Amino acid sequence: MSRTSSSPSLDCPMTGWVDPLTDECPPLRGDVRCEVAVLGGGYTGMTATRRLAERGVDVVLVEAAFCGRGASSRNAGHLTPTIAGDPQILATFYRRRAPELIRFADHAVDFSENLVTALGADCDYERTGNVSAALTLGQLRRAERITAVLRRCGGEVEFVEGSGAGLPEAFLGGILERKGGILNPGKLARGLRSALVSSGVRVFERTPATAVTSRGNEVWVSTPGGRVRAGRVLLATNAYSRDLSFSPRRAVAPLWVTLAETEPVDPEQLEATGWTSRSGVYTQHVILENYRPTASGSIVFGTRQVQAPRGALGDRTPDGAVVDDLTRGFHERFPSLRGVPLRRAWGGWIAMTPSWLPVVGQVAPNVFYALGYNGHGLAQAPYLGALMADHLAGDPTHDDLAVVWRERARFAPAPLFGAPALRLGWAIDRLFDRFARRCR
Ligand SMILES: Cc1cc2nc3c(=O)[nH]c(=O)nc-3n(C[C@H](O)[C@H](O)[C@H](O)COP(=O)(O)OP(=O)(O)OC[C@H]3O[C@@H](n4cnc5c(N)ncnc54)[C@H](O)[C@@H]3O)c2cc1C
Repeated sequence: MSRTSSSPSLDCPMTGWVDPLTDECPPLRGDVRCEVAVLGGGYTGMTATRRLAERGVDVVLVEAAFCGRGASSRNAGHLTPTIAGDPQILATFYRRRAPELIRFADHAVDFSENLVTALGADCDYERTGNVSAALTLGQLRRAERITAVLRRCGGEVEFVEGSGAGLPEAFLGGILERKGGILNPGKLARGLRSALVSSGVRVFERTPATAVTSRGNEVWVSTPGGRVRAGRVLLATNAYSRDLSFSPRRAVAPLWVTLAETEPVDPEQLEATGWTSRSGVYTQHVILENYRPTASGSIVFGTRQVQAPRGALGDRTPDGAVVDDLTRGFHERFPSLRGVPLRRAWGGWIAMTPSWLPVVGQVAPNVFYALGYNGHGLAQAPYLGALMADHLAGDPTHDDLAVVWRERARFAPAPLFGAPALRLGWAIDRLFDRFARRCR
């Protein structure tokens, strides 16, 4: 196998979660050899690299920009056991698999919590849980049904309603995921990076992999300044994989997600909204809205509109119209906070998959992949990174790896993630909002 790719554009504007990095690792120059080369330094790649090094495997991490440049530093920080897709459909059509998937997602949260502790990462983690919240009575009853389904499958969830739920007043209640909470994702990514760099593992930043070629028992990774000759390669390039010819074709559909952050909100004003639980909140729209408080007193909110890429992935500044639309949503859910100004907005690429589940497997001899977390990778990406590392280190396939493992790297087209379908989703959501306003 020999496949080449042009390197992605590297300079996306960063977020407010952490200060810009000042100590990038030098790029690769010349040839190096290793047992395993990991491509991509997000949660998946950094956790896999760390685990392999801990297990005594000679590992090299190759990152196109800097570790944490992608979704891992840009996300909203909801640590959840959510599985994308409708749990009712899952439990009806995949009776045996549904409990296994829920177990996988629960274990993923446990893993990330343990990772935060092991790293000693000061990432403002609050074990508040998250709520899939209802705006209408119809949604509330649906939430009650889904809670029952999830509990039957072993999920640690609870149906909550009324003011006792500690949710902002606009929300009637919903499904409280007891596991997980909210954290600063940029600090978590930075903690992982620091642990790797200080452990002496070879990390090459500003080193985009441009080709991956199988040569007998070796896999050669070409980069602009040199070559890695590895026994095996793990692709951990998530949404960016779409543009890489050596990753499985059509495995992921990248979507641009925008987030916004307010200036700090006066604590009394925040409490007056009814949001005393500090749980992260997401809505049950076709394209969800998410809201969470931060340690600095601001509120981070987002999604509502997602955008399909036009051309190659890379630099993108938040679209003013999208930020305005997000702000309209924020004002609708938090009318008493209309006067709170916005501090900043940013965005990032998530990787959706046709099955709405992450995908892991082998794409060529000695070339493996772990990708596509459908916007839920804060828990799932580190966990699958570690499980893939154990697999590459020679362990039998873990049950939680087996449940998402693909025997064949073949993927169906995903028309749902094209621009027309996304616009339709947004329009349905706004019609629903109109209905919800009338019901109030
Ligand atoms: C705005 C936003 C909000 C989100 N909110 C949440 C949330 O609240 N909760 C949740 O669970 N998840 C959330 N997510 C999803 C979550 O952040 C991701 O699923 C997770 O970070 C994926 O990690 P990763 O390591 O697989 O990918 P990434 O962090 O994207 O890392 C991929 C890395 O690969 C590198 N790369 C690309 N091409 C190459 C190449 N050719 N050679 C070498 N390296 C390369 C990139 O530079 C990048 O650093 C959100 C994502 C976004 C964008």
